[in-house]
Amino acid sequence: MGYNERNPIFSFRLGEYRHGKLLRLSKLNKMPANDFLRSILDQYLAGDLIPKAKDDLAVEMTKLKLQKIKAEIEYLQLKNKYMETFGAPMSTSATRILKPKITTTQQTTQITISPFDAKNNIIQCCECSQLFRWENKDEFLQQKFEFERHMTNNHNRALSYLEKSVLDDLRFSGASL
Ligand SMILES: [Zn+2]
Repeated sequence: MGYNERNPIFSFRLGEYRHGKLLRLSKLNKMPANDFLRSILDQYLAGDLIPKAKDDLAVEMTKLKLQKIKAEIEYLQLKNKYMETFGAPMSTSATRILKPKITTTQQTTQITISPFDAKNNIIQCCECSQLFRWENKDEFLQQKFEFERHMTNNHNRALSYLEKSVLDDLRFSGASL
């Protein structure tokens, strides 16, 4: 095998735009254009250049996730603003209307509403507004259990992190109003 076959010359043409860009970049890198091009190829062959991700679906998913996070942040800001302005939490029905509807799956849905209404001393389901009341401590303990069962049976989900921590911390403090 001759020298030329072992060390072939590659040649190709670049259009005006890419040629201009190549000249600019090689100047920035303080290299002759030819060496700069070869260095890019060397990096690519060494695995140091990673092709740009072009998976449209992945890009779309990321956009949707961002949109969902933005909607949730706006919603929380609105809730906080309401609390600051009126000194009381938003009503459950208003909360239900304003709550972001961009929810992909049950697992990623974040329930950010406390199920406990401290003013009336009752537990309320944030999804269907069903109330859980009690007269005494026995009923209180039973209703906490009922609430969890209600979520499983009626809404097909486990308690959210917030719901669980609220219920865990909740102690009997008298009958519901
Ligand atoms: Zn419910």
